Amino acid sequence: MDEQSSVDPAIMAAGLRKVRKRRWLLWSLILIYLPGIWSCLTLTGSDRATGLFFGIWLILLIIGVFFVTTAKCPRCGNLFHMHGITPLYLRNCLHCRLHICADKRK
Ligand SMILES: [Zn+2]
Repeated sequence: MDEQSSVDPAIMAAGLRKVRKRRWLLWSLILIYLPGIWSCLTLTGSDRATGLFFGIWLILLIIGVFFVTTAKCPRCGNLFHMHGITPLYLRNCLHCRLHICADKRK
């Protein structure tokens, strides 16, 4: 039996969009780290200000990781990137193997 046909395509697309959005947020946070630290150090010349930037970035990163790991798979309802206590940021659901772009492949 095809498991994919049991879920409404609109709900599936909306769920996958949410997972992709959260992943993008996390990758964006990771990507701004080096230019952010460099800019802060260059502009302020202060270790203290750079340390503060790092602290804020780290808190945002932890929040971002939390949001990505708690994203649910629209097909099986399990956490998309979590299996047990291990988070893995793969492009497939760790439970039902649903691809992150399954709604775009038609
Ligand atoms: Zn799944």
